[in-house]
Amino acid sequence: PPERGGENGTRILVFVRVRPLGKKEKDAGSRCCVRIVDRRDVYLTEFASEKDYLRLKRLRGRHFTFDASFPDSASQHDVYSITTSELVEAVLQGRNGSVFCYGATGAGKTYTMLGKVQSPGVMVLAIKDLFSKIRMRSCDGNHAVHLSYLEVYNETVRDLLSPGRPLVLREDKQGIVAAGLTQYRAYSTDEVMALLQQGNQNRTTEPTRANETSSRSHAILQVVVEYRVRDAAMNIINKMGKLSLIDLAGSERALATDQRTVRSLEGANINRSLLALSSCINALVEGKKHIPYRNSKLTQLLKDSLGGMCNTVMIANISPSNLSFGETQNTLHWADRAKEI
Ligand code: ADP
Ligand code: MG
Repeated sequence: PPERGGENGTRILVFVRVRPLGKKEKDAGSRCCVRIVDRRDVYLTEFASEKDYLRLKRLRGRHFTFDASFPDSASQHDVYSITTSELVEAVLQGRNGSVFCYGATGAGKTYTMLGKVQSPGVMVLAIKDLFSKIRMRSCDGNHAVHLSYLEVYNETVRDLLSPGRPLVLREDKQGIVAAGLTQYRAYSTDEVMALLQQGNQNRTTEPTRANETSSRSHAILQVVVEYRVRDAAMNIINKMGKLSLIDLAGSERALATDQRTVRSLEGANINRSLLALSSCINALVEGKKHIPYRNSKLTQLLKDSLGGMCNTVMIANISPSNLSFGETQNTLHWADRAKEI
């Protein structure tokens, strides 16, 4: 597994996962334009017929290197253990962390995060691993695990575990919280997959495509572990760690990465939370003191889990199809920038 940063620095680990070609893509005669070499390098090929010759020349041999790259044969378990298992360990030491899936609609974000019943994704595997680690370290029922699952859609926050009116964000001693959000006390893994699947069903859909989750919806699962330890003087200390797992909105309409473009797009119908996340990551990349968390609901909710002492993991999801070449290239550029932290 890749190395984490130093004891006190932030470091974003950036991973890429290529999904298999889908049936529709195969039927449309698409070709694979992504190749992974040495488990880290991603090579992109643009086919000559599609774009002009000069661009082809410029891009030939263009490659990106990430902390690890997963080919379409990688299992859910491979992805979980290399990207997220260390963060679960850190949560049990009272640290916060976050894992994001970034990429265009259809690139495999929800598959990676939630997965299917037969092949559960990072969210479910993380909770499973958490429970087994808790069992190994204590038999006194010392740990309490709470889950919350919420959505940010058009800058409105909703509870995915108990759908209803939008939630208001408040600042209290603990930080920024969504008032009234369900905190589900989880005792075992068995109940969790069904709970999360149900929550995913509650995500906002576009009126025109009633069965499909809106590409503009962000889903955030937060897992909070509270436990008690004794210090040297045998005083009881309450500790807490939080892991946030985020299935981001589709990146296809929010590809701006520099500040000027971000501002010029703000008025347009563009995903404010995704842009704000990019701005925060840029500010972290540049080592700025001020990180603009306040600019969106998503970044406010993740203020205590991004930057500072937190572990942050980005999984960029891409399709291998040449029909998605432009989106894939944009996603890889974005991911390449994020890893400079
Ligand atoms: P997104 O959430 O990014 O819009 P999805 O996760 O819904 O994309 O993936 C699009 C389709 O591709 C779904 O049918 C999903 O089951 C399938 N898929 C995505 N990634 C994989 C994978 N690694 N292996 C098998 N099928 C996948
Ligand atoms: Mg999705």
